[in-house]
Amino acid sequence: METLYLVIPCYNEEEMLPITAEALMKKMDALISDRKISSDSKVMFVDDGSKDKTWEIIEKLHSLNPMFTGLKLSRNKGHQNALLAGLMTAKNYADILISMDADLQDDIGAIDGFLEKRAEGCDIVYGVRSSREKDTAFKRGTAQAYYKLLAKLGVEITYNHADYRLMSRRAVEALSEFKEVNLFLRGLVPMVGFKSDIVTYVRNERQAGESKYPLKKMISFAVEGITSLSVKPIRLITSLGLLVFLVSIIMLIYFFVIWCMGKTVAGWTTTVVSVWALGGLQLLAIGVIGEYIGKIYLETKERPKFIIETNLEETN
Ligand code: UDP
Ligand code: MG
Repeated sequence: METLYLVIPCYNEEEMLPITAEALMKKMDALISDRKISSDSKVMFVDDGSKDKTWEIIEKLHSLNPMFTGLKLSRNKGHQNALLAGLMTAKNYADILISMDADLQDDIGAIDGFLEKRAEGCDIVYGVRSSREKDTAFKRGTAQAYYKLLAKLGVEITYNHADYRLMSRRAVEALSEFKEVNLFLRGLVPMVGFKSDIVTYVRNERQAGESKYPLKKMISFAVEGITSLSVKPIRLITSLGLLVFLVSIIMLIYFFVIWCMGKTVAGWTTTVVSVWALGGLQLLAIGVIGEYIGKIYLETKERPKFIIETNLEETN
């Protein structure tokens, strides 16, 4: 039997944690008594520099039940980094790892499906939302448009899959070879390869507390996904530049012809509009290129993606 570690990033989740812990304990106990996972399987909460009582609650859970363990990051590093920190630590103790959110939005019933696929020899199993009815119309619409855009840009990504997935230890080992600082895990994991499959589940509403992903964070996460996985935006700019240049040649010919015919050009509007249009396009182009240069800048620094302050697995 294999040892399973659930890896759960938590940021200011004091309201949610007791509920989550209760539900997960029941689930883990059931899996252990059904002999689906080994009895030393655990739930690892990663405290992503929370400002509330999250870490105290994790320590308390750990002292009451050794099934709960925790990892404390030295400061808030964001969901993706916290998740990576958890995976990289838990892989030292576990055979299989499942990542999920602290708010129980990912249906824990899907874990059975994950383990079945694992038994069939999969190294990676993606949890896929079968419907997004519980999300707001805005979130649903933007998310779906975004997945389509990513696909157009050539990013290989599983549609409607967030970060609820099972990975084997060797898959996580392989993931650790990806050294990039700009993290978009759901785009990286498919690059790892190995036999994989999907399990669909119904996404629930957050049961307590509020979303830790405000619109601003969501937008920057979305930009991260595109710029860390695709260089097509830069190519599009090249094509756009070419197109604008062609248009200007055509205009040149046109104006030359009119000039030959002796007609004067009443050109104030065209001049002003083209100055603004070209200026705007140039700023946009510089902005997109700058985005990539910023990425390169950060990558060359090779700063640590996370720093672990406490690992409850090592303190006993
Ligand atoms: N999270 C985190 N660090 C952050 C923000 C969020 O570890 O800086 C965690 C959060 O505690 C939760 C998961 O990431 O377990 C997903 O966040 P949330 O449920 O707020 O996002 P949503 O479901 O609204 O997209
Ligand atoms: Mg959530």
